[in-house]
Parts: sequence; structure tokens; C-alpha cells
Amino acid sequence: MRPFTYVRAETLPGALDSARTDNTMFLAGGTELLNWARIGIETPSRLVDIGRLPELHEITPTEDGGLRIGALARLNDVAQDARVETAYPVFSQAILKAASAQLRNLATIGGNPVQRVRCPYFRSNGPVACNKRVPGSGCAALHGANSERFAIFGWTEDCVAVQPSDPAVALACLDAEIITEHGDGGRRIPATEFHTLPDVDPAAHNVLRPGELITGIELGAPAPRSAYVKVRERQSYEYALVSAAAAVEVTDGVISRARVALGSVALRPWRLYDAEAALVGLTPGSPEVRDAVTSGFSAARPLSSNAYKIPLARNTALRALELALEA
Ligand SMILES: Cc1cc2nc3c(=O)[nH]c(=O)nc-3n(C[C@H](O)[C@H](O)[C@H](O)COP(=O)(O)OP(=O)(O)OC[C@H]3O[C@@H](n4cnc5c(N)ncnc54)[C@H](O)[C@@H]3O)c2cc1C
Repeated sequence: MRPFTYVRAETLPGALDSARTDNTMFLAGGTELLNWARIGIETPSRLVDIGRLPELHEITPTEDGGLRIGALARLNDVAQDARVETAYPVFSQAILKAASAQLRNLATIGGNPVQRVRCPYFRSNGPVACNKRVPGSGCAALHGANSERFAIFGWTEDCVAVQPSDPAVALACLDAEIITEHGDGGRRIPATEFHTLPDVDPAAHNVLRPGELITGIELGAPAPRSAYVKVRERQSYEYALVSAAAAVEVTDGVISRARVALGSVALRPWRLYDAEAALVGLTPGSPEVRDAVTSGFSAARPLSSNAYKIPLARNTALRALELALEA
């Protein structure tokens, strides 16, 4: 591990000010960042510890009936908050299926979407072609071992990895916003646009600027009819092969609004907008529901070893939708 300077921020302006120095990263729960520094994925020269900023731990109602979740709220605290469980079950379920109980006690909701891809080439210790590790070096996974943690949507020859966050899939489904502050001004980033696709920049992970701090996440109107399904090789403490988040509204016996997002299929949570439009007006449980979900997969493209993920993702989306309709 390379040496770095450690700074503990006592105030939010102080944290932003400390982060003006080049090659600075924020330290929240530390469950990812310290591993990255150890294996060389990131080599920050300064860490700004934001863990003591009290205002970033809170979960508070918003004026429009939603919920604002401070970036430093621990994953387990968010998932077990009664307001989250009742109004956004998809979010609570997605968090509880992430990592392990011990990690969720430490990891923060602001740090979670910032996590890096789990591609073994990206995380390799030795020199390997990876445009995220060494821009311009290529993508070893394109014609290499590309079965489990690889894309079926939105990939290019420059990067075929997937974003592994579970909570981020629920946030994309719920049209949540990620709220940031920066020395030069903050912004609200739609969760659907937070992660960067490889056709924009294969080396980038997300749209955060250096020194930009996530202060919170805002959830809009409650979505009580919602559910998250995660398919993985073992039932706990494992990343998803694919996952799906669904939120529905039913009016007069027909689907009046549907939102479906897939996880671990692309470098960002992947909304099935075509399927969502096709679902409106259908009767829950009717055979047309499967056709509508299938229509969301016209852009799916498998790699050499992951064609199985297309039917798996379709069935996972259908199951999430069924569970949301039953909620
Ligand atoms: C073994 C293991 C298994 C895991 N399994 C899963 C899983 O199945 N599903 C899943 O979703 N996740 C999983 N995770 C990821 C875990 O949820 C993340 O490690 C955690 O959420 C990151 O939060 P943190 O607070 O520890 O972030 P840190 O490690 O402190 O930081 C991670 C990154 O986020 C940045 N960051 C942190 N907070 C902010 C902020 N407020 N503003 C701007 N940048 C910030 C840091 O600078 C750093 O770049 C797993 C992790 C491990 C180690």
C-alpha cells in the first residue's frame, strides 16, 4: 500500500475544502476503499474521513412526501428504517441482499453506488489489459473468461464489466436522485445516470467530479408495491449474476405504471423502458405480461460465455414484477 495523508473532516465545508487537493478520496465506511488502496486499484495521496459529519447520518422526510437519506447512513440502518421498509420495500430488500450483515453495519449508502466493478481482470494483481486500470490497454474480458460478472447490455469492446451494486438497482427503479456538494457547487444526479457507460468513457466509473461529495439520496413518492429479486450462485454474501427491481401501480385492475431495472447486466442499472411502456394497460397475471417484459430485451447482446444471462434476466424481471404486484 502506498503512503497517504489522513485528514478527519469536522464540518461539511471543511471536507469539501480538504478535497480540493489533487488525488484525494473521501473515506466513509472504508469497506471498499481500503481494499482498493491495498491491491492498487486506487492510489490516493490523501484520504478525507467524512465519518464524523453528523448531518450526513440522518434519514428525514422531504416536503413532497419522499425521504432523504444521508450519505453516511449505514446500509443496515437504512434497510431497517420502518419508513423505508413500508414505503420502498424494493430498496430495503436490495440493501439486505447486499454483502454480509457485518459489512452492512459499517458500509454507507453514499459509498455503495461508488463501488468498482468486480471484473477479475480489473482486480488482477498482475499486468493485464483493462481500460479501467490502464486506459488504452484494452479489455481482456472481451475474449476471455466472461461468464458471471459481465454485461449483456450497453457494453463495448472497451469494457464488458458490470456495476455490482444492489441498492443502486433499486434507486434506478425508483427514479431516486443522488445529491452532491462540491467546492464549486452541488447538484442532483438521477440515479439512472450516475454510472458511466463505456461508450462515453471506458475508464470512468461514475459521473462524480474530483472532490464531489455525495451528501444524500432522495426518494420520491412512496412505492409500496415494489420488490427486488437477486439471483446468485449462493444464497448469501455473494454478488448477483443478475438482479431485478420492480415497482408498479395498479388502477381499476390494470397496470397503470411500471418501472423495472436490472442489475449486474451493464455498467449501470439497466431500466427496461420499452417493457415498462408495454406493461401499461395490462391485467396483472395475464400472459401478455411476459411478452411485455420480453420486449425490453431487444437490445440485449451476449458475450461469448454469458448468453444464459438473457433468459435468466428476463425471468428475474418477471419474478420481481410478480412480487411487486402481490405486495
Ligand atoms: C466482501 C464484500 C462483499 C460485498 N458484497 C456486496 C453485494 O453483494 N452487493 C452490494 O451492493 N455491495 C456489496 N459490497 C460493497 C459494499 O456494499 C460497499 O463496500 C460499501 O457499500 C461501500 O461503502 P463504504 O461506506 O464502506 O465506502 P468506502 O469504502 O468508504 O468508499 C468507497 C468509495 O466511495 C467513495 N465515497 C464514499 N462515500 C462517499 C460520499 N459520501 N461521497 C462521494 N464519494 C464517497 C470513496 O471515496 C470510495 O471511492 C461488498 C463489499 C465487500 C468488501
